[in-house]
Amino acid sequence: PLLINQLAAGEVVTRPSAVVKELLENAIDAGATSIEVHITQGGMGMIEVVDNGVGIHPDDMVMAITRHATSKVADIANLQGISTLGFRGEALAATAAVARLTLISSQDDSGIGRQLQVAGILADTPKLTPIVHNRGTTVTVKDLYFNVPARRGNLKSIATEFNHIETIVREVALARADVTLGLFHDRKRRLLLSAISNESSSANNNSSRLPLSRLEQALGSSLSDNAIEITVDLSSLLQPSAMTATAGGNENLGEQIIDKQANINGWLWPIYNDQQQALPKLLYVNGRLVKELIISNQLRQLATTAQLSGFGYALYFDLPSSWLNINVHPTKQRIKISPLNNIMAHLSHTIALKLKNVSI
Ligand code: ADP
Ligand code: MG
Repeated sequence: PLLINQLAAGEVVTRPSAVVKELLENAIDAGATSIEVHITQGGMGMIEVVDNGVGIHPDDMVMAITRHATSKVADIANLQGISTLGFRGEALAATAAVARLTLISSQDDSGIGRQLQVAGILADTPKLTPIVHNRGTTVTVKDLYFNVPARRGNLKSIATEFNHIETIVREVALARADVTLGLFHDRKRRLLLSAISNESSSANNNSSRLPLSRLEQALGSSLSDNAIEITVDLSSLLQPSAMTATAGGNENLGEQIIDKQANINGWLWPIYNDQQQALPKLLYVNGRLVKELIISNQLRQLATTAQLSGFGYALYFDLPSSWLNINVHPTKQRIKISPLNNIMAHLSHTIALKLKNVSI
């Protein structure tokens, strides 16, 4: 199992930032509203993620670090409509195979949690020891690749590895404005992004889920007047039955309506900020950061048509799960969307109109 886990680690644990990404996704899947990330030496010394999520039951802690143990998918058919970020049950096991991993968790407010430690070989079932811990989970990953010297040699400088980590934290911050995120490097605070409550961000139905202030914080760049808000209603593409449900006003249908929402919102911005640093291009589908080449290529063409050298963006697609096919790819980024042509026609139309009236 160690070898298999190390092979899995080759795909999942590609560098310190990949560990940070997996641990952040776990914290979010656990419903955390506040997450702290503590890094030393660009993640090569330590990566620690502290969350205030639901925690792990003591009986499940050993399972959590065992390969293919996931509490998130009952059966493979569920993969179609998956709503959690993790589902392969591989990240913790893979990380534990190539680092010294400590898992501490508590599910209640007793102030007491359980701790479990693993480093490489899982010879015996690891022992749980009681430890002081608030409700939530802390995962500490030390000495990454301590037992795989070749991988250690592939790591870049502390500054480069930390930059990758910071990028990941910013991407998560852009996905989840409702979560407070802190990032510390060698004990110095590098980022603090306070949660924006759902009420305030969705008070106005026409506004993006992501307020500009939080966007600028998460990007680390001021956009001033150079951001364009995008809102696209895709409800015309929904099945007729869903439409009648929306129009019917029957209270029992509340859940169905939420499930059947189809819209895109977000922001466009210039390709460079004031300091001539490239700003990101990010696509989120149902909260998941994805790569979708058809969409990104079409967005690039739109910029050309508008005689821009390009633009950056964070676009949030909220789509019914029946429109999505999430590839079971190790990094879970690839996604197939249908009816993509219709969606893109709506999005392109909206963006083209905006670019005609406003300049970035
Ligand atoms: P996956 O996320 O694909 O299920 P992981 O290896 O990342 O696989 O995690 C394994 C399991 O451990 C999860 O399914 C979850 O039950 C539990 N777990 C991991 N991290 C946390 C956390 N921060 N809070 C609560 N449960 C967690
Ligand atoms: Mg996970």
